[in-house]
Amino acid sequence: MSHLFPTYQRWEIEPEKAAGTILYGKDGQQYLDFTSGIGVCNLGHRPEPVEIAVKKQLELFWHVSNLFPQSIQEAAAKKLAEESGLDCVFFANSGAEANEAAIKLARKATGRKKIITFLQSFHGRTFAGMAATGQEKIKQGFGCMLETFIHLPFNNLESLKAEIDKDTAAVLIEIIQGEGGIHVVTNEFIKEAEKLCAENGVLLIIDEIQTGIGRTGKPFAFQHFGIEPDIITVAKGLGNGFPIGAAIGKAKLAEFFGPGSHGSTFGGNPISLAAAIAVMDIIFNEGFLEESSAKGGLLFGLLHNELGWMEVVKDIRGMGLMAGIELTVPAQPILAELRKSGLIALPAGEKVIRLLPPLNVKQEEIEKAVSLMKCALSNYKVTV
Ligand SMILES: *Cc1c(COP(=O)(O)O)cnc(C)c1O
Repeated sequence: MSHLFPTYQRWEIEPEKAAGTILYGKDGQQYLDFTSGIGVCNLGHRPEPVEIAVKKQLELFWHVSNLFPQSIQEAAAKKLAEESGLDCVFFANSGAEANEAAIKLARKATGRKKIITFLQSFHGRTFAGMAATGQEKIKQGFGCMLETFIHLPFNNLESLKAEIDKDTAAVLIEIIQGEGGIHVVTNEFIKEAEKLCAENGVLLIIDEIQTGIGRTGKPFAFQHFGIEPDIITVAKGLGNGFPIGAAIGKAKLAEFFGPGSHGSTFGGNPISLAAAIAVMDIIFNEGFLEESSAKGGLLFGLLHNELGWMEVVKDIRGMGLMAGIELTVPAQPILAELRKSGLIALPAGEKVIRLLPPLNVKQEEIEKAVSLMKCALSNYKVTV
């Protein structure tokens, strides 16, 4: 028997090694990896500058505890603050922990309990993350949830207006619901949400765990809308595979996260931070995201032209290099077909194929992926 808890449904491919957009299976096959480890390896597998930065830190120290000042934490925090327009960073090890930090901070800073989130949202698997998540399947069997999380329909202004009040600590929202099916927030909704938050003294928290670090063509997805959140959370793409998460907030919140208020043994680990700094140096550098956005334009253009007309394709949504293809049929069997033909892609909900290629994916890799999808989707129609 396997000695692992069977928490994950595993694919049939066991990776041997990986480089760039290519994953080499132990089966001797090569696969085009359009998952980036669920939006983590935004620079592809094993980008050299990140490897060099990590090796350099490995020879200095691996862990010393947060009792010491560490300039590598200051350097990473400065970059995150500069790029986001926010001020202060708390480092954690994962997305769920970043959201935990944000939720604790919001409750403490406002002295209020109610947190508004949205249906189909995903905010992680810890108790607060799970309670914040607007999908029943995530909570099944775990008993009563943390109180005072309210889930409203996404992009529905009337329900937000009716629910937000002076007892509300925060509105927590994804700019693009990633796990929930690639649903993009509307400009009107997020702008109004910002205004309603300001009017009621409510903190606006943007969960950028999947959309951040360049995934949508800007450093953070909220920047497409000219809004100013109070807190954002990041994780996945920040360390390109080294575990790290962060909650980034406005300076006015600093007094509520004083010594002893929150902490993490591994949070701010220098190996992960060395990776994160190298990642940000590349992704936030002049020109990188322009090129990546152009690749996103190419991807969406091809998806619309090659697949948009198909009967099985209901909708194509997303931004930058975060794409969802909603089908009229379940996605899983098609994803299995795609793997057989050499393309690894993700589901997002039951009927959506989600593509999260690395941000430096090559043009010919995009063309190949779309042609493999076209093939798998046309074949599917014939066999059903
Ligand atoms: C993945 C994800 C999380 C949870 O991150 P973990 O690192 O798995 O804890 C939270 N929010 C969003 C939007 C995510 O995509």
